[in-house]
Amino acid sequence: MLSLDCDTLIVGSGVVGNTLACALLQGGQRVILVEATPALPIDLDQPDLRTFAFTRASERILTRLGVWDKIRPNRLSPFHQIYVWDTSGSGKIHFDSASLQESTLGYIIEQKVLQAALTARLSEFADLISYRPAKVQSFQQTEDETAMVVGLDNGQCLTTRLLVSAEGAQSSIRALAGISYELHDYGQQAIVATVQTVLSHEQTAWQCFLPTGPLAFLPLVDSHTCSIVWSLDTPQAQRLIKLDSDKFQRELETAFAFKLGAINHGSERALFPLQGRHVTNYVQPRLALVGDAAHTVHPLAGQGANLGILDAASLSEVILEAQANQRDWGTYQELRRYERWRKGNNWGMLKLMEGFRLLFGSTVAPIRLIRNWGLNLTDAATPIKQFIMKQAMGLTGDLPKLAKSKLG
Ligand SMILES: Cc1cc2nc3c(=O)[nH]c(=O)nc-3n(C[C@H](O)[C@H](O)[C@H](O)COP(=O)(O)OP(=O)(O)OC[C@H]3O[C@@H](n4cnc5c(N)ncnc54)[C@H](O)[C@@H]3O)c2cc1C
Repeated sequence: MLSLDCDTLIVGSGVVGNTLACALLQGGQRVILVEATPALPIDLDQPDLRTFAFTRASERILTRLGVWDKIRPNRLSPFHQIYVWDTSGSGKIHFDSASLQESTLGYIIEQKVLQAALTARLSEFADLISYRPAKVQSFQQTEDETAMVVGLDNGQCLTTRLLVSAEGAQSSIRALAGISYELHDYGQQAIVATVQTVLSHEQTAWQCFLPTGPLAFLPLVDSHTCSIVWSLDTPQAQRLIKLDSDKFQRELETAFAFKLGAINHGSERALFPLQGRHVTNYVQPRLALVGDAAHTVHPLAGQGANLGILDAASLSEVILEAQANQRDWGTYQELRRYERWRKGNNWGMLKLMEGFRLLFGSTVAPIRLIRNWGLNLTDAATPIKQFIMKQAMGLTGDLPKLAKSKLG
């Protein structure tokens, strides 16, 4: 029998690929990680513009993988409340962790702070081999179909039971495998920046729906510093990104109706095109897609990375269970369990985000009336609110063991 270089080869060392690597290594697998960018030290002295709103489900997963304790506590910002309102009416809704007897609804964390914690955890495993910078050039199953042979652009040829693409939205392996996807170009771009507000954010995640798109203020550790995500139609986003700092801050505080007072300092700004994607197949024999390689969703509810982390936890559970029972985890039959588990869930979130975007983007008077009425009605209905809160915390649906309240 062919001696393999590893049990699972993961391409892409982003948040999702690294989480999957931690889970498989902790479960005793030999893993190879291939990443296109060079390994550079992560400079945590400078803040990162990119932040994630992180669910409690992601917290549980990363805690069980020994990653959460490695996140710098002075860079982890819990939020206890969410406040959402419609600027073109009186509709509003307020969520509070205390009403669920929970300490927090979630966390805001900078991408590079999370990556530093994942990298620190990965460095503790002896059974990890990394190739970076490197890319996959080719792959094909062995003649007996028991393994995948993977060619890298550095000339290396590696054998594995399973190849996983965690390469993000532009996955090259997805293209090489001929896996198609449904694409929704939202015609929007998101401006992200860090800003200082005169009023305290009160550890609350704030989001208003403007006719031009959603605007979120996410609380960072300093009580007067927020990460903003402002989604707008492309021409408006292009106009705002070019404004000087002062003009941008004036437009931002006006759009946000001075909810947190004036904005007196802003960082540089970055722009991200927004597209929804969902692949037709998550798996082929000896191949699986996770995270943004399989799906991208509108950032209005901050779910993209959280869904990817659930993918990683679910796929690792399927793989490790097959391995524990001496079954080959790279077969289509085993991998289909992962696809069936995650595809419907991710599709549902994608459609929900599209529905919200269309509902809140509409300026048609009856729709505006209904959504304002609906928001206020929901705000008054405790069971519905509690269900939505649990959904936002990632604690509903068929969760992988790593995300359940009790392991078992
Ligand atoms: C404006 C904005 C705000 C967002 N806010 C949130 C939020 O609040 N909460 C949330 O959960 N999600 C949020 N998201 C979504 C989140 O950013 C993504 O879902 C998440 O980063 C995807 O992680 P990933 O590891 O799958 O992919 P990526 O982060 O894209 O990582 C892919 C990795 O693969 C590497 N790679 C790419 N191609 C190759 C190749 N050919 N060979 C080798 N390596 C390769 C890349 O260098 C990278 O390291 C937001 C997104 C946007 C745009």
